[in-house]
Amino acid sequence: MLKQSNPFMKQANLIGGEWVAADSGETIDVVNPANGQVLGTVPKSGQAETARAIDAAQKAFESFRKTTALERSNMLRRLHAALMDNQDALAELLTLEQGKSLAEAKGEIGASAANVLWFAEEARRTYGDVIPSPWADRRVMVNKEPVGVVAAITPWNFPSSMLARKIAPAIAAGCTSVAKPAELTPYSGLAWGLLAEEAGIPPGVINIVTGTASEIGDELCANPLVRKITFTGSTRVGKLLLSKAAATVKKVSMELGGNAPFLVFDDADLDRAVEGAMVAKYRNSGQTCVCTNRFFVQAGVYDAFVEKLAKASSALKVGPGVEDGVQQGPLIDETALAKVEEFVTDATAKGGKVVVGGKRHALGGSFFEPTVIAEATPKMKFMKEEIFGPVAPVFRFETEEEAIALANDTDYGLACYFYTNDLRRAFRVMGELKYGMVGVNEGLITTPEAPFGGVKESGLGREGGHQGIEDYLDTKYVCIGGLGD
Ligand code: ADP
Repeated sequence: MLKQSNPFMKQANLIGGEWVAADSGETIDVVNPANGQVLGTVPKSGQAETARAIDAAQKAFESFRKTTALERSNMLRRLHAALMDNQDALAELLTLEQGKSLAEAKGEIGASAANVLWFAEEARRTYGDVIPSPWADRRVMVNKEPVGVVAAITPWNFPSSMLARKIAPAIAAGCTSVAKPAELTPYSGLAWGLLAEEAGIPPGVINIVTGTASEIGDELCANPLVRKITFTGSTRVGKLLLSKAAATVKKVSMELGGNAPFLVFDDADLDRAVEGAMVAKYRNSGQTCVCTNRFFVQAGVYDAFVEKLAKASSALKVGPGVEDGVQQGPLIDETALAKVEEFVTDATAKGGKVVVGGKRHALGGSFFEPTVIAEATPKMKFMKEEIFGPVAPVFRFETEEEAIALANDTDYGLACYFYTNDLRRAFRVMGELKYGMVGVNEGLITTPEAPFGGVKESGLGREGGHQGIEDYLDTKYVCIGGLGD
């Protein structure tokens, strides 16, 4: 099924308001993960196109930085309207290139719109300070100014909303940007160019380049005109970008990998915990950085939890995301599938028991069965590594101290979840978990109003919340003297 008819499927770079091919004319195929068919192509760009996009962004910045906060807020409001007016078409495009169900894709476009609206509001609140002066004849003032050109690199799992969290605060702050969407899912990224045109955002404020990641990334890191890099993706690439950005001392925001624990105590509401577990595990077929990687369940409720989770998991409807009622689509590609298989093989070799699922789905392609593995132990691979697939390993624990130690025994620190009905335990445990985000009796906590981000090797900076715009602003201290009599 070749869906060329989708009005948002743009197969070109956007540089300085022009839709252009790669200099070489070369392209990359984009494949629908649900059926392996080629949806279309995008330009295979490299260093030269990226440098031009940066120049275009810098040129646009000279005037964009002088727009008022109210003007930028109104642009973002129009962008929000453009997203909501086209939610169905954007969701279809997202499902076709990424695989998630249409319901989840619509939800992601809604989340993009919510982020845009949030930053439309925050644009008008980038307050500075007037500080009581220690000098009688001077005034002390602090202003906030846009940092300049921002480079935004995004992953394939949320190709629309991850860009929303970067483009929207950039515009709100008065920055211009060069975006590089993931090569597996570039269309939802390129769609932001069309949406920006529809919203009347000036040419050059948003530039989008697709192609060879390392070449584009190297130019974004090395070019001194880029003043900030915002990245969502793997910890491996994040570290690479951090080291490369050091040469020109850029600001950096990094949303990297996770290894989310999900703790269920004996005193938890078990049905609520299972409900939370299902979203925290299987959203986007387990391909989110805040997806539960490890379930830790107290001995008293262990068997009951495993049974309920297995029952709910086996009831999930797996299929192509575009089909009615489908809850879980395919994994992004064969590599992802092979990796998930490897986790299951490793676990069963070390004594893990597959309660449901455990293998490639009968649908073929990159579909995998929703899987629950009981009797998980810390020796298994998923104790330290991100699964990024629909596999739920369930570990058993006896005491609260043991659960906290297990949960924290990782280099990551993005999201974590725990379930208890004991208020004192809730406060104790939330204080002990070394994570940037904690869900207490909730399995889905992301919202534009709250700061999203991690500690340890899960990243730097926060997206969303009132914190989300800070990284796009420089602080300028101004001392005004000669004011004496
Ligand atoms: P994932 O494992 O989720 O695919 P990656 O970190 O590999 O995460 O990819 C996230 C984004 O980083 C994608 O847009 C990808 O193209 C980009 N990327 C990968 N390698 C580099 C690189 N060397 N420089 C810049 N960007 C890169």
